[in-house]
Amino acid sequence: MVIRTATAVVALASSVALLASTASAATDPAHDLSTRVTAEGANRHLIAFQRIADTHGGNRAATTTGYNASVDYVAGRLRDAGFDVSTPSFEVREKINDVGRISAEGASYDLIPFGETPNTSDGGLTAPLRTVSEDGTPGCEATDFAGQDFKGAIALIRRGTCTFVTKYANAVSAGAAAVIISNNADGPLDLRVPGTIPGGGATKADGTALAAKAGQQVTLELRHHDEVHQDRNVVAQTKTGRTDNVVMAGAHLDSVDAGPGMNDNGSGSAALLEVALKLGAKPKLPNAVRFTWWGAEEAGLVGSRAYAQNLSFEQQLDIALYLNFDMVGSPNPGYFVYNDPGLPYGSKHIEKAFSDFYTAKNLGPEGLNVRGASDYGSFTALGIPAGGIISGGGEVKTPQQAAKWGGTAGMEMDPCYHRKCDDLGNINREALGRNVAAAAFVIASYAVTTEGVNGVPSRMERAALR
Ligand SMILES: [Zn+2]
Repeated sequence: MVIRTATAVVALASSVALLASTASAATDPAHDLSTRVTAEGANRHLIAFQRIADTHGGNRAATTTGYNASVDYVAGRLRDAGFDVSTPSFEVREKINDVGRISAEGASYDLIPFGETPNTSDGGLTAPLRTVSEDGTPGCEATDFAGQDFKGAIALIRRGTCTFVTKYANAVSAGAAAVIISNNADGPLDLRVPGTIPGGGATKADGTALAAKAGQQVTLELRHHDEVHQDRNVVAQTKTGRTDNVVMAGAHLDSVDAGPGMNDNGSGSAALLEVALKLGAKPKLPNAVRFTWWGAEEAGLVGSRAYAQNLSFEQQLDIALYLNFDMVGSPNPGYFVYNDPGLPYGSKHIEKAFSDFYTAKNLGPEGLNVRGASDYGSFTALGIPAGGIISGGGEVKTPQQAAKWGGTAGMEMDPCYHRKCDDLGNINREALGRNVAAAAFVIASYAVTTEGVNGVPSRMERAALR
């Protein structure tokens, strides 16, 4: 299947290349659009985002006025260009920690309540503290709970080896009344672990101190609540083309709290806006294109998940594929194409479409497992083929990569990732220009035909390819 699918994309890419070489460039919509989008065009939108952050408390994070102003800017530009724009709202839940404390023999230790777990009742829970032995797999196996009576007890488990969810579930199975997970590195442990008993996170040092009190009666108080906010996505679809075979392209519009979020993800948002405005609301292409800017990605893909999960199965089938643009102007850039294992059928074609574009520009693209950690994960979860590009975050550039991509070996691709310094100066304009061209080329290619991603081309698509 991989070989068959790969061959299909080669056929698509070469037919586009043939058009480009035998006819004037204007007859190939993908080539045409990729040459009309510019770094300057995208950078104008980045300047807008920087000014919005600077006049709204320094960031554009979910549920802030800076985010709202970003939505208004993008929606306004699209409306001016003739798009019908909607800004559907969704809920963002923010965990507020009220009380987190465990008291034993006069000593008291701070805890952070787990999100999505129940609170302890008034006055707290008094029960014996039981420590799960700190072997190589602490709390990861049911046998870690053998030999002690955890029924009604407070289970203390060290972080490490397996997921928090697994440790918590094993403690629940052993009959524990509450769970404390202590860190195995410096820093607090603030978790969301959906479950039926109270849970809290302790620091490494407090976990060690508490472990020495195993067997004692302790009193645990964990109380938290969620504040519910409304946030908005931006959705704009071309007015032409098939609406039952839509090409979707998205970028998250929110930043983290720490800074203005220019590379993450002003860059992808600006690139996508440049593509949408240059494509226009009524392109003469066989498939409709739906552009989306997501809210609250940094809070856990909240906006895209709310959007995707609200689609009926028929509405999901109307989406041919989803393309994601998150961090495309890194200051020490690489040229990566998503290649997570196990993505839905058709995703390999998308990977190849981006890779072929970079290869044709002699950029030597590399695959990167992004682990579903951006909005495409909300679509692949539904079986929708998806892919995307990224110019790198915390990855350190190797000498081999510096040789082909330029930049600085031994340095992170984005040293300002999720930091205050992710500002306009944190953007590599050359990478931004190449990536806005890549986005334009692949979006327009699929607007011409999704052949190979979802099966044979329609008659209309074949006509467009002639
Ligand atoms: Zn991001």
